[in-house]
Amino acid sequence: MIRAALFSTKSYDRKHFASVLEDERFKNLEVTFFDNKLDRHTAIMAKGFDAVCPFVNDVIDKDTIDILVSLNVKLIAMRCAGFNNVDIEYAKDKIPVCTVPAYSPESVAEHAFALLMTLTRNLQHSYVRVREFNFSLAGLEGATLFGKTIGLIGYGRIGRIMADIAKGFKMNVLVYDDYAKEDPTVRFVDFNTLLKESDIISLHCPLTDKTFHIIDAKAISEMKDHAVIINTSRGALVDSVALLNNLKNGKLKGACLDVYEDENNLFYSDLSSEIIQDDIISRLISLPNVLVSGHQAFLTTEALNQIANTTMTNIKSYLDEGLLLNAVPGMSK
Ligand code: NAD
Repeated sequence: MIRAALFSTKSYDRKHFASVLEDERFKNLEVTFFDNKLDRHTAIMAKGFDAVCPFVNDVIDKDTIDILVSLNVKLIAMRCAGFNNVDIEYAKDKIPVCTVPAYSPESVAEHAFALLMTLTRNLQHSYVRVREFNFSLAGLEGATLFGKTIGLIGYGRIGRIMADIAKGFKMNVLVYDDYAKEDPTVRFVDFNTLLKESDIISLHCPLTDKTFHIIDAKAISEMKDHAVIINTSRGALVDSVALLNNLKNGKLKGACLDVYEDENNLFYSDLSSEIIQDDIISRLISLPNVLVSGHQAFLTTEALNQIANTTMTNIKSYLDEGLLLNAVPGMSK
């Protein structure tokens, strides 16, 4: 039997993994669901397991990796696309790391547009008003997306779907991607041109040393006045203090955030009875022109099914057949 420990699991993970595990292909796989995050304090819980399966906010640093290796865990099978929370350099040659590189990119792109549409038509305000039978329209004036320019930073799986949706709205699409891509239906520009010409800027690149705070005070100062920022990728792509300052001073028209740079101790928990100590996110959430969802863009039936399927396939392939699928770049094992 191959034993896998799934960390940071919620009811929806358990439902989809349990359903996928009914497949005959996975009959020699046994999965244990833990609520806890995987980090240096909880890594000991992986004792007796062949693989661990962490999620986006687990912390797989040097200490965590050392503990996993000492427990003879053989695989870190991330059940997400990003792996910025794993010390890959350190893991290399010690324990292989794989991910679920593609799971319903439509889910994330559609969520980005759901946030954008809500913000541009003030639906977050009208929803609350109408529930109190307040049908006043004062202050609800919106704007169309038609004819506006959207700038996409990153033109991979999700970025391309963003472009397709934007074209449906007859928006102009600008793209900045560090790696050459070909697509005559969009206009590739340099980073500064994208900042200067876009009404809406949406981030779809990974979080790396190079993209950390790619949207900082300087980048925002280069943007059009009243631009909107959408971040459904990783929180630390945006300097939240600079974002907040520029929302307060009116330079930016609004922000749609599914991710936040210090989301680690906030998202995925019910903190409704707690005093939130993070003044930046508290202030961002308090602004009428900011929409925050708690790293939810992936959360569709389609994506959860694909995540469960690919994760189980990754684990089975490596531990049954020695075949490392969907390895993080640079893994030598
Ligand atoms: P992808 O790998 O298909 O595309 C990423 C693109 O970014 C690539 O085209 C790459 O060339 C480009 N890129 C890399 N470095 C860059 C740089 N410095 N500047 C500009 N572009 C750069 O990834 P994807 O599937 O489209 O996902 C994008 C991101 O979305 C992921 O990295 C992940 O962080 C995030 N994500 C979030 C959720 C969520 O629930 N909110 C779910 C899935 C993925």
